[in-house]
Amino acid sequence: MKVTEHLKKAKKPLFSLEILPPLKGKGIQSIYDGIDPLIEFGPSFINVTYHREEFVYKKREKGYLEKIAIKKRPGTVGICAAIVNKYKIDAVPHIICGGFTKEETENALIDLNFLGIDNVLALRGDPIKTEPGFVAEELGHSYAGQLVNQIVGLNKGDYMDEDLQNATPTDFCIGVAGYPEKHFEAPNLKTDMKFLKQKIELGAEYIVTQLFYDNNKFKDFVNLCRAEGITVPIIPGLKPISTKKQILSLPKFFHIDLPDDLVDAVEKCKDNDEVKQVGIEWAIQQSKDLIDFGVPCIHYYTMGKSVATREVVKAVFG
Ligand code: FAD
Repeated sequence: MKVTEHLKKAKKPLFSLEILPPLKGKGIQSIYDGIDPLIEFGPSFINVTYHREEFVYKKREKGYLEKIAIKKRPGTVGICAAIVNKYKIDAVPHIICGGFTKEETENALIDLNFLGIDNVLALRGDPIKTEPGFVAEELGHSYAGQLVNQIVGLNKGDYMDEDLQNATPTDFCIGVAGYPEKHFEAPNLKTDMKFLKQKIELGAEYIVTQLFYDNNKFKDFVNLCRAEGITVPIIPGLKPISTKKQILSLPKFFHIDLPDDLVDAVEKCKDNDEVKQVGIEWAIQQSKDLIDFGVPCIHYYTMGKSVATREVVKAVFG
């Protein structure tokens, strides 16, 4: 079932999960171990992230360095199929522009369609770690909006081969990313909002946000979206903080601010067990307040670590 149908049918707020494929070499059991403890609370859908290649340098004979492209976390499509098969829960694969030509994107969408997966989250993708910025493939997309446009085209039966007659249309429900604290490359929130609106006008049907810890930032973002005429559902993304290090790493990686109260509480903790409790309590309060605000669903970034998320969904949805 499509994410938008889940949201429409729901009589109360829903929750969803986001997981990432395990490092290459690890089995599918590690995915199940992260999902199993949360199943009893009824997640409505599970997103699976997509990770493009990274470059590593291998030492070779005579000191030469060989640059090799490797995918450390392959398996997004297979994991989605396994989730649907094992749990009968809808899986939402992330599909990115980075590393894909338009034809490769089309073929990936055909695979998903054949598997019966009717949801995708369309993203530009992060830049390759060792490169200063995002570089599109020569025959690929530069922005998520262009990817949305291609998926919408396929939903109308427009394949890249112009000689195809009576091609079967796909029927994907398309979600996109939104940033309550602005995407880090956007010069300002107004510009970022303009392109977010463009993604919706091109055919995206809902927004999932970057994680945040200050609900006021999310509420301002929703109000701004509504004022700009963006009417689709907006699903907030939350991740319970769990280590002291994260008060430095989260702002760095996700370009977000942490509220003073949260930083103070984490700094007072003696160890990471105490930080976990602070993180769980913060996420519970955030979730309850967001539900009061009227969100249709809360998206938890579990990233395979279910212990803290379990405590949160038990308190909020249990
Ligand atoms: P876009 O919407 O394309 O925006 C990127 C930047 O370009 C923004 O600054 C925007 O304002 C600007 N822009 C947009 N359109 C235009 C245009 N037409 N002209 C000029 N400027 C424009 N990354 C992964 O690699 N894999 C994942 O699985 C993944 N999952 C994610 C899930 C969520 C919910 C979120 C919030 C992010 C995720 N990301 C993932 C990270 C994401 O790929 C990065 O944040 C990326 O830098 C931007 O992606 P986007 O889809 O928001 O890009």
